[in-house]
Amino acid sequence: MGVIFGVVLGHTALPAQTCAHLLFGFEILGKIFINLLKMILIPLVFSSISAGIANLKNSPQSRRIWPTLIAYSLTTTALAGTTGLIVMNFIKPGVGLDIHLFKESMNAFHVNHAVFMNPWVAISQNYIIIVVLLAVFLGITIVVLGDKGRSVLKVINDLFEITMTIVRWIMRLAPLGIMGLLAKLIAQQNVQLLYVLSKYIVVVVGTTLFHGLITLPIILWLITRISPLKFFLAMKEALITAFSTSSSTATLPVSLRCITDNLKVDKHIARFVLPVGAILNMDGTAMYEAMAALFVANLCGAHLTMLAQVIVVLTAMMASIGAPGIPSAGMVTMIMVLQAVGLPVQAVAILIAIDRPLDTIRTVVNVEGDCIGACVVQKFIPHK
Ligand code: ASP
Repeated sequence: MGVIFGVVLGHTALPAQTCAHLLFGFEILGKIFINLLKMILIPLVFSSISAGIANLKNSPQSRRIWPTLIAYSLTTTALAGTTGLIVMNFIKPGVGLDIHLFKESMNAFHVNHAVFMNPWVAISQNYIIIVVLLAVFLGITIVVLGDKGRSVLKVINDLFEITMTIVRWIMRLAPLGIMGLLAKLIAQQNVQLLYVLSKYIVVVVGTTLFHGLITLPIILWLITRISPLKFFLAMKEALITAFSTSSSTATLPVSLRCITDNLKVDKHIARFVLPVGAILNMDGTAMYEAMAALFVANLCGAHLTMLAQVIVVLTAMMASIGAPGIPSAGMVTMIMVLQAVGLPVQAVAILIAIDRPLDTIRTVVNVEGDCIGACVVQKFIPHK
């Protein structure tokens, strides 16, 4: 509907006054939606990361699992983000389109060099990277404190549930918000945008599949000697569930069953690695967010320096850690990647409009990454 309204408003001879009024209405719809997303971003990222870490048990076995899991997760997520960056530098979808709507709202790109600061300042000034660090600290402290931190752990878990519920509500408004944003965009833009978008979709799908079918299976085989074919056959039910639900968390019961029954991964390891992975380890999301930010930069004709591109990959990694495993969660944390390098957050409108099909595939890769992570951890941790 947004596209139809946009075409009617921008490309037919309606009285100028009516057009302006309608466009204003659409703009407000879009603004409310984007502002709601911005509102929930910090609580979501903070509670998702701190709860993800704080729920880990501080047992001798888990102390051995942690380092392996963290090393695996950071390596594969960084690989995913970097692959996205390389592909985007070669193919460059969206270059030359120069959407002026976005140009207006570009901010100066400045890097904040402080890494540690007063939590309240960080939260109130939207220093999202510092918020991520704070959440990590808090999570680790709660694990170390054990019983003494129990009540705060409960608060964090509840906060996470609460923000997730609000995110779901906001997402129900998504159709209206997207309609508003798209109508305004299309009214002021030519149809070439649609062609560019289809090219972008093909590039994203191709790169995500590359990570899922080549990079991750190679890692699996090199470390565990499990044949990728055997892995895919064993996990097919979980992967199909991920595809159809677009949610790593909803897929958990199926992936747990597949990995313990079909791949004979120790159930203690699987029960530890998969839930943590479903929230914190998301290769597909990291790759997608990096690619999407570079795409937005292309759309508004911004030239990102090498430093800015590295920042994009790093924030995309953090954004993927901060995104909970529910449909389109990556779109909420996408805002932090755009903000990190001064790109306009309104661009989320275009990204959300095409997110359904892309979310399915990146969720499959997210779940695949978690399951391979469990196999890798099992290889390193001797178990009974
Ligand atoms: N839907 C994804 C997942 O559940 C998260 C995302 O939106 O990227 O894994």
